[in-house]
Amino acid sequence: MKKHIPLKKFSQNFLIDYNIIKKIVGFINPKLNETLVEIGPGLAALTKPVCNLIDKLIIIEIDKNLLKRFKKYSFYKKLIIFYQDALKFNYLELFNQRNKLIRIFGNLPYHIATSLILYLFERIEIIKDMNFMLQKEVAERLTASPGSKLYGRLSIIAQYYCNIKILLHVSPKCFQPTPKVDSIFVSLKPYTNDFPYFTHNIKVLSYVTNLAFQKRRKILRHSLGKIFSKEVLIALNIDPKLRPENISIFQYCQLSNYIIENNMNQKYNFL
Ligand code: SAM
Repeated sequence: MKKHIPLKKFSQNFLIDYNIIKKIVGFINPKLNETLVEIGPGLAALTKPVCNLIDKLIIIEIDKNLLKRFKKYSFYKKLIIFYQDALKFNYLELFNQRNKLIRIFGNLPYHIATSLILYLFERIEIIKDMNFMLQKEVAERLTASPGSKLYGRLSIIAQYYCNIKILLHVSPKCFQPTPKVDSIFVSLKPYTNDFPYFTHNIKVLSYVTNLAFQKRRKILRHSLGKIFSKEVLIALNIDPKLRPENISIFQYCQLSNYIIENNMNQKYNFL
């Protein structure tokens, strides 16, 4: 079979470093009888070693030409293949069929990584954990704290839902073709009954953070002025002169809860 020519449009940067692959498989720690889903198996760099440890692996791959070449390999028989866009895949149906929380992993196609993570957050109640290779900047956004340039809506929503850990820094040299960016392998574990933050409604939290970070340079009194008066911000112990990156996830939750508790959600039509 001819050598595969990597497609830029599908972010095909294949892992080639055996030590990194081994470490990643160790972090994923696949176990028999789990519902494991790999996104973008590509040329099976992770797929094959994961299949050495389990009986069945569900894979979602957009490029139909990649996996055909592995038909004669023994691990191929363990695959349940969906040739689909991971952004359109019905994860809920998969969960309903198996009635078991899903574990998702992959060296993600970087052009869809953020959208995919947000899409998966909307189905968080069916997910046990996620282990992803990401572009360094996306991983840093996910884990950013207040005060950081990268702290924003993604950090707040991600840290609201999940305990996120950076597991491994990966150099561009570990991929073929070599990407222009550094990578980080992260683990995201959804909180179950141990949520560190509370919000009545995640859609309201999402709305407030979106409004605040739309104009990053504006002080809160201006960016959130449409909803919160200066007096309300002060009453909530939030300095109206601060910029959106300077207040905590807890404070964003407070703001969104204020909206619900004061029946303002009808007025602003968030839902
Ligand atoms: N897992 C392989 C590895 O580590 O070498 C390949 C990783 S490569 C960065 C991303 C993979 O995701 C490619 O195989 C690509 O074809 C696939 N892909 C790209 N867009 C996709 C999408 N929307 N849905 C599913 N797979 C996609």
